Amino acid sequence: MDKRADLIELDKDNENNNFIKDFIKADISKGGRCEGEKIHTRFPPEPNGYLHIGHAKAICIDFELAKLYNGQCNLRMDDTNPCKEEVEYVDAIQEDVRWLGFDWEDRFYFASDYFEQMYDYAVSLIKKGLAYVCTMTAEEMKQNRGDLTTPAVSPERDRPIAESLDLFEKMKNGKYEDGSMTLRAKIDLTSGNFNMRDPVLYRINHAHHHRTKDKWCIYPMYDYAHPIEDAIEGITHSLCTLEFEDHRPLYDWVINNLDLPSKPRQIEFARLSVSNTITSKRKLKILVDEKIVSGWDDPRMPTISGLRRRGYTPSSIRNFCNRIGVSKVNSTVDYSFLEHCLREDLNLNADRVMAVIRPLKLIITNYPEEKTELISVENNPNKPELGERQVPFSRELYIEQDDFMISPIKKYFRLYPENEVRLKSAYIVKCTGYKTDSAGNVIEVYAEYDEKTKGGNTPDGRKVKGTIHWVDAKTALNAQVRLYDNLFTTPEPEKSEQSFLDYINPKSLEVLQNCKVECNLKDAKPLKSYQFMRLGYFCVDNADSNELVFNRSVSLKDGFKK
Ligand code: ATP
Ligand code: MG
Repeated sequence: MDKRADLIELDKDNENNNFIKDFIKADISKGGRCEGEKIHTRFPPEPNGYLHIGHAKAICIDFELAKLYNGQCNLRMDDTNPCKEEVEYVDAIQEDVRWLGFDWEDRFYFASDYFEQMYDYAVSLIKKGLAYVCTMTAEEMKQNRGDLTTPAVSPERDRPIAESLDLFEKMKNGKYEDGSMTLRAKIDLTSGNFNMRDPVLYRINHAHHHRTKDKWCIYPMYDYAHPIEDAIEGITHSLCTLEFEDHRPLYDWVINNLDLPSKPRQIEFARLSVSNTITSKRKLKILVDEKIVSGWDDPRMPTISGLRRRGYTPSSIRNFCNRIGVSKVNSTVDYSFLEHCLREDLNLNADRVMAVIRPLKLIITNYPEEKTELISVENNPNKPELGERQVPFSRELYIEQDDFMISPIKKYFRLYPENEVRLKSAYIVKCTGYKTDSAGNVIEVYAEYDEKTKGGNTPDGRKVKGTIHWVDAKTALNAQVRLYDNLFTTPEPEKSEQSFLDYINPKSLEVLQNCKVECNLKDAKPLKSYQFMRLGYFCVDNADSNELVFNRSVSLKDGFKK
């Protein structure tokens, strides 16, 4: 099979055709822009925060498209902004991309490694009469940018080339104050696209850079730097979000007016927003700095590290990103769809265990006091090959508080006086009584078991409607369980007039102490996911406690409407 046929095969497998694929297919076809070339993409985060679910979408698009067409994807730190960037973020970004399942091999780059070349390219623009040094302040430039009917005003755009060269060199050598001068492209003061009205290419900023230290006091602007970074790395398709669409003419201007090693193309796709959360590093950083959350990896955060700690699996996130697709229209995806993708994965793959998160003592009064027996319980009904495990059962058990009612409501099939219920995989028990404290709270429930119903069977065929889970009291492990809810009380916290901080959900975290989990969880490894029967999916969290801690990743009930 030749390469082309291979691609067609791949396409058939992947029903999610999209405009970026169409673009690439046209480029690699006979006579196309990239005929005979390898597709090369990049994921270029600015290391000024942790990656979030929106970045996950970009990562999937960049890495998976490259893979689909036998190409490569680079990981590049877009570190052209010295003030806001930190090494911690550089490390976290690599960890998160790798965890998501993507590999950049040895192609890990920093935009700051190209500062020297960017400077030389800028000099070449000045020499061609395509850039000039301007002493307008940012405020003056703003006032003089004109409007749709009035051109911008830039009195210094005809500064002699030699003078601009001299001033630019002095800018680089630190002779001038921050904000006193810029290097601007000489393009078109009348352009209907304001990005083309002689945009700034370089600004002065006497700031320490995490990699180049104090070597530079001028830094390139994103619109100038990004196309150069792409061209140096041989990127064929520079994929980014829609807000850069209006910047594409400038991207192309830079590519076309410099003598660069390659000519990349920019293609824009819609940004991902997810309801009830925010996807802006700047805003997420406020949540961290203001200690509204415990850190970037707080399980309520939409960051990749937060989702990981919450119990999301890499494949559930990749699945989510692939299924929402690629489009040209910004929209908000319902958070319940993200949960749906996780639930699908865990339903298939997570081991089932029994845990009681709001314990109530159940005493089987006719069960021998010293006796403990082992009950076989299946590990995963979706994967019989995973077999069964042994769970201890004895006279005293824990059940959920809401699995008992003194006076049952309609359609309540769980435990209440005189009613029979099945203890999952163990026995049928009949409630014989209960004890309350002075405030009237039920503190113990009594029952008798029917020895002939081992395994939960009813040999005489009698009907027992309810099945509840339980944990043996003697061998139970204590655990802390953290239940999460949306971090924001409004579906679109970023769209509202008020600050997103006005919509913080005060009840987004509920911590339950002294929960009881079956003893088989004693060696549960961090980040491992389980289904707590009837309660939801939970994952082990050892980030901030020596106790056994479980995060509820997602409940069992699917709120996603297809
Ligand atoms: P933020 O506003 O969160 O800082 P950003 O776009 O400034 O986002 P970058 O680090 O510059 O963040 O982003 C790296 C890449 O990820 C870019 O190509 C950007 O377009 C893409 N990206 C960022 N946010 C999203 C999102 N919500 N949906 C899809 N892609 C995104
Ligand atoms: Mg950015």
